[in-house]
Amino acid sequence: IDLKQPYELTLSNVHYTYPGTKKEILKGINLTIKPGERLAILGRSGSGKSTLASLIRGDRKPSSGSIKLNGVDTDKFGDQITKYISIINQTPYLFNTTIANNLRLGNEDASEEQLWQVLRRVGLSEMVQELPDGLETKVDEAGLRFSGGERHRLALARILLRDTPIVLLDEPTVGLDPITEQAVINTFIKQLKGKTLIWITHHLQGIDKMNQVIFIEDGKLTMEGTPQEL
Ligand code: ATP
Ligand code: MG
Repeated sequence: IDLKQPYELTLSNVHYTYPGTKKEILKGINLTIKPGERLAILGRSGSGKSTLASLIRGDRKPSSGSIKLNGVDTDKFGDQITKYISIINQTPYLFNTTIANNLRLGNEDASEEQLWQVLRRVGLSEMVQELPDGLETKVDEAGLRFSGGERHRLALARILLRDTPIVLLDEPTVGLDPITEQAVINTFIKQLKGKTLIWITHHLQGIDKMNQVIFIEDGKLTMEGTPQEL
């Protein structure tokens, strides 16, 4: 499937119940996300935010209703969906291999110059330069050197290499101290400028930079508006 930009996501009456369970988690979500929009999805723990993210990413299928990208059901994309949508979640995963390999999970063909470029963009190039083997340093050997904030920056670098038009952030700054969190949020927003951004969060830090905010409560969208209105 080869879609033409701009990319618009449409959720129509999306319901979701986990297989083998009875409780309906999403109860009729209707939502249009315009190209380049920066949308915050706010909600309490357990309200269904990550479930919604996994449906948008195509990791799960709605029990009923549809999710479409430019009018095409995301069901139809299979792995191809990763060309259009990428996700950074609560615990960015680093594989037990070199920094270069970890970054190239975003784009196998990235040149060394491209790797340095994204590391500069996320503010990690100096740190990596100082490692004994630079880009070839193994993450497990560097293990403890990666703080929470640095892991999130590395995850962002990976996403920047993938360069999808839509990026989902599922509480990507959870567990960071407030100052680091603000710095990471600022980097994310600056570097992802122009892309459609879906920011899932349970608190208000950083949402002033978004242009639309919606609340999810018990599987339903309850309120929407701009950060100024709310
Ligand atoms: P948090 O802010 O804590 O991340 P959330 O809003 O992302 O919460 P979800 O992870 O979407 O919430 O979970 C919504 C509900 O779905 C919860 O009641 C949870 O227990 C349930 N749930 C999540 N994953 C599964 C699963 N794999 N199987 C069954 N139930 C699940
Ligand atoms: Mg969650």
